[in-house]
Amino acid sequence: MISLSRNFRARLRRFFSLRDAAFLTLTLSLACTGDGPTLVRPPDSAPAALLIENAAVLDVATGELVPARDVLLRGDRIDAVGPARTLSVPAEAGRIDARGATLLPGLVDMHGHVFADPAPPWQLNIPNPEAVLRSYLYSGVTTVLDPADASGDAFTRRDRIRGGDLLGPRVYATGPPLTAPGGHPVALVKIAAPAWISWYLASQAGFQIDSPEAGRAAVDTLASEGANFIKVIVDRVPSDVPRLGPTEVRAIVETARARGLRVVAHIGSSEDALLSGRAGVAAWVHGVYTERIPERDIAELASFGIPMVATLEVFDSYARMPSGLRAPTRLERESAPAEVLSAFEEIPEDSTLLDNFGEWLAMVERNREHARENLRRLRAAGVTILAGSDTQSGVFPGPGLHRELALLEEVGMSPAEVIRAATLDSARFLSDSEEPDFGRVVPGARADLLLVSGDPRQDLAALSRIREVIVGGVRLHREPLQAPGGDRE
Ligand SMILES: [Zn+2]
Repeated sequence: MISLSRNFRARLRRFFSLRDAAFLTLTLSLACTGDGPTLVRPPDSAPAALLIENAAVLDVATGELVPARDVLLRGDRIDAVGPARTLSVPAEAGRIDARGATLLPGLVDMHGHVFADPAPPWQLNIPNPEAVLRSYLYSGVTTVLDPADASGDAFTRRDRIRGGDLLGPRVYATGPPLTAPGGHPVALVKIAAPAWISWYLASQAGFQIDSPEAGRAAVDTLASEGANFIKVIVDRVPSDVPRLGPTEVRAIVETARARGLRVVAHIGSSEDALLSGRAGVAAWVHGVYTERIPERDIAELASFGIPMVATLEVFDSYARMPSGLRAPTRLERESAPAEVLSAFEEIPEDSTLLDNFGEWLAMVERNREHARENLRRLRAAGVTILAGSDTQSGVFPGPGLHRELALLEEVGMSPAEVIRAATLDSARFLSDSEEPDFGRVVPGARADLLLVSGDPRQDLAALSRIREVIVGGVRLHREPLQAPGGDRE
């Protein structure tokens, strides 16, 4: 059974007039963050064709950098790629001088919440999805897998972007996640939200599944509403809450398959990873972060042949939170208001959230090295690692992914491997095809592109020295909040 019937939820929504966002109710008592900075905007009139001249083009499949290329875009596609000055170019084409720069596909965030807010959790800010979408684009993220959205608007928002009605990366959306009754994130919402509204917000946080039938019904509902993937929670946050069992997850996977959908799993432990892998999920959207994976499990985990989205950064971010120590990166300074960045230092005297999660945060911190070592061991056994940030408090939409990429390099992936994880490998997963129509700089592919200064294969931080972001063939005008530069990339 689902804890609240869809009808009851619909009535509640009408009662609160909360069609757009459950969290809107909080405006009654809390200051709104406003519409936020623009960061990116499309040109007033875009040329029908765009020539990128003299770029070094990164072949993300091989890691090879091909110098002195011209790339012609028409409409939302890459039309031609060839040696400089050899393409036939329409007279009216716009031109971008790309000397000294590397052209690569736009980045994919494989754990990119859109209905999220990066400010400290104790501020209880209201998510501003449109600002989140622009922040992704500012940082070169042109595709997002949005795994869990409590607003009720995930599919409409995704479709508005595809229809050209809303500026944002291309979104693949799961809608609300499926979890155990009282499981994650229901438990988290109950602790974090003000008491008078927490029961309502908790009811919106996900489908609470207490039987295989309830799992099937939830998948049917989401499939009818247009979900691209189904997300299950097979983890305990905090450590004493229930999680979905194998019978439920199997029923969910079967029903999803019958509806032509794949299931992605939020996991924590090695047992969670095994349970969901055996049930047939298509990807793990976290690494194993609560323990060292027992040696005997590695081969079986690799045998499922499914990728793992590492999400190292979100756990590092949790670990930083209680200390308030947080040196902003270049992209964070450029894209986030200074007062939001400094707010992490202003830890309240008594925070219900930090008090309730102290033990869990300490557990995550204790297992930091295990989480990294788990990834190294799974990679060595043949598991594909993908890049996702888990955008939320402390993990900024876009800059958070760049932090994640740096951490993937730390665990032993070469810069070229990291870039392939955040482009072609993710595109292959999302499109369920070896030849996806995005994630590569080849004729016919979608013109979602990133032009950066320098060679990111030599220095991954070059990815944050962004010269141009092009989405669907449209060259965006980028406006940083603070002047670029500073010590930290
Ligand atoms: Zn998440």
